[in-house]
Order: sequence, then structure tokens, then C-alpha cells
Amino acid sequence: MPSFASDALVLRTHKLGESSKVVVMLTRERGKVRAVAKGARGPRSRYRSALETLSEVRASFYGRQGTELFRLGDCELLRSAFPAGAHGLDAALSLSYFAELLDAFAQEGEAEDAVYRLALAVVRAAEEGAKSDVLSRYLEAWLLRLHGIYPPLDRCAGCGRALPAGVLRYHRAAHGFVCDDCGPATGPVIPLAARAFLEEAFRRAPAALPRDLGAEAAPLEPFHQELISMHLERDLRSQRVLRDVARETRR
Ligand SMILES: [Zn+2]
Repeated sequence: MPSFASDALVLRTHKLGESSKVVVMLTRERGKVRAVAKGARGPRSRYRSALETLSEVRASFYGRQGTELFRLGDCELLRSAFPAGAHGLDAALSLSYFAELLDAFAQEGEAEDAVYRLALAVVRAAEEGAKSDVLSRYLEAWLLRLHGIYPPLDRCAGCGRALPAGVLRYHRAAHGFVCDDCGPATGPVIPLAARAFLEEAFRRAPAALPRDLGAEAAPLEPFHQELISMHLERDLRSQRVLRDVARETRR
């Protein structure tokens, strides 16, 4: 009997030994899960194309309670990510980026239904041909917001009063946008078009977003990267991953 079964998105795989892989998945039931896919690199692998990045699968996992590395049982492909990556190089690269972001934010062993639904919606929108930069900014904004990092767009981080319409000025020490009275702000200025995009993004599904981001929204990318690295610095798990893999290869 498997320990559990779940719908999941494949985030990444890496080689293990001669013929196997370690698969990192975002599961609907348990958040981020790592599992060994025995024989996944062999010519007659039972997994075939089910382990491609951001493919949606139905998988079963075996392992003791509390384990950090499961064994992958059956893994049925529900929806290939291939059509989403087939719109060109840009689309293919952005899929890797989405997977990396989800991997960085997802909690291990902790179901986050909102994150799972967000990931599915972004992959589907990519399949329908939504632009990579629109989807990237959307996914970043939502992951940051769902993890409590995105500052409110409508309240001053200093005094709590409503922010007037117009550009948003970020204050690093206050971790938020500030009004004129609480300024001068130290961080980036988010132009009007970028603010409008964010307000839309927090209200809509990714498929309903504007087709183009526009040049005025360009400051969003470095702003999001700043928030992301601030968050991940206190949340890096790569050391534990290396320990898990070392333990599994010794078995
Ligand atoms: Zn204020």
C-alpha cells in the first residue's frame, strides 16, 4: 500500500546512481515532496514522459511516516507540459523558471491548495499562449502574496492610511509602500502601469490578464527579484536536500 497518492506537478528531477532519478514534485495533498524514481533513466522506464518539468501527474508514494525522501510508485501522466513549452524558446525557458520559483516557495510536506491551483492556472495559461513575462510577474506576485511577503498596494506601511492613486514608492526598512508623509521612500518606484497590472493580477485568473505587460511595467521584474531573494535567504533548504540524497545513495 502506498503511503499516499496525489495529483502533482513535476518541479525537477536529477540523476541518482546509474539508472534512477530523484523527482521533486508539488503535490496537492502534501506540498513539496521528494521521491526516488527507480529505473527512471532506463530504456524501458515505466515513467517515460511523465517526469517532464511541470507535467501534471497522478502519483503514489511509498515511505515511512516522517520520511523526507519517498519512493515513487505509479505515476500516470494527466497533462503534459509539452504544449505549454512548444510556443518557442522563451516559453520553454519560462516553464523552467516557473518550476524553480514553485520549488523555492513550496513548503515541504505541507499542502497549500492555493499554491497548487495557482501553479495549474499558470501552466494552463502558458499552454494557451499567454506571454512569458506576463505569467512570470503574475506567478511571482502571487507566490509572494500567498507567503505574506507582497506589501499591500492600498495601505501605507508607515501610518496605515489608504495610499492615494498614482505611483507606488517602496520603503525597504518599512517593507512596504509609503505615503508622502512617511517618506522619503528608499526603494524602487512602481509606475502607474505596473500598479494597474498588479491590481489586475490580484483580481484575475492568469488567462484573463492583458496580453502585454508594456514597457512601463519593467521595474516590476527587479522589484520582485528583490522581494524573492529577501524571502529565500532565510529559507534555503539546499543543504538538507544534499544530505537526503547522500543518505539514499548509501542504501
Ligand atoms: Zn504613511
